[in-house]
Amino acid sequence: MKFQANISEIIPRSANAKSFRFKRPDDFDYKAGQYIVVTLEFNGKSVSKPFSLSSSPTEKDHLEFTKKLTGHEFSNALDSMETGYPFNISGPFGKMSYEGEYEKIVLLSGGIGIAPMRSICRYCTDLKLDTDVVLICSDRTEEDMVFWKELSEMIRQNPRLTVFQTLTRASENWTGCRERINENLIRKEVHDYATREFYICGPPSMTESMTEMLRSMGVPDVRIKKESLVGY
Ligand SMILES: Cc1cc2nc3c(=O)[nH]c(=O)nc-3n(C[C@H](O)[C@H](O)[C@H](O)COP(=O)(O)OP(=O)(O)OC[C@H]3O[C@@H](n4cnc5c(N)ncnc54)[C@H](O)[C@@H]3O)c2cc1C
Repeated sequence: MKFQANISEIIPRSANAKSFRFKRPDDFDYKAGQYIVVTLEFNGKSVSKPFSLSSSPTEKDHLEFTKKLTGHEFSNALDSMETGYPFNISGPFGKMSYEGEYEKIVLLSGGIGIAPMRSICRYCTDLKLDTDVVLICSDRTEEDMVFWKELSEMIRQNPRLTVFQTLTRASENWTGCRERINENLIRKEVHDYATREFYICGPPSMTESMTEMLRSMGVPDVRIKKESLVGY
């Protein structure tokens, strides 16, 4: 489906990420975890980029994507926009999605790869699904953590959701995990990993290394769903 939208709300999420919201057309259906393609007109050209929907299908009024602000051309054009600004959308696309088909899932996110994972967590929580969800997020610093406050609230609403955060370049105040996501961490935090479906989203290097790690742990490819945020 293709449609034009106007930005209805811009929400700062972290030191370098913002969410952009717009009205959801009545006939726009999507699955948690899918992405859209956003086309912006700036500097006399038209540029299209894919973005995961960070909103959940249970949120009927709006759609939302969350952009890591990179300082590059497209990012700066988006960052300079105000509410009311028009852009073109097409979608939904993508096979890394969740509709309640598995009982136990593990979501591995790197950086802004948290966007579709937020969608899946919100979806499971809003629908009060029985799904047992373990979300493991890896970021560099405290300032990079996106949706942390909302996820902390979601844990209270959804007893079947567990969130684990690791920060690879945290300040000295951080008392949590500082390792990259690795085999030992998965074995320790997800004892029953062998019986779960895995979802991976992050920069290509992260999704590739996570896939290799899971394969070496004996997780078959058919149980690994992933979205590489190509473009970084
Ligand atoms: C399925 C999918 C889902 C995605 N979901 C998300 C998401 O939810 N959130 C998100 O933030 N991103 C997401 N991405 C990535 C997104 O589409 C962009 O590619 C990414 O955000 C980089 O955007 P940018 O604004 O830096 O782009 P650009 O400005 O086009 O820059 C992209 C790259 O081009 C190069 N470049 C650009 N300008 C210069 C310059 N002046 N000099 C030198 N090099 C330059 C750099 O290498 C830069 O990394 C997704 C990608 C895919 C494939």
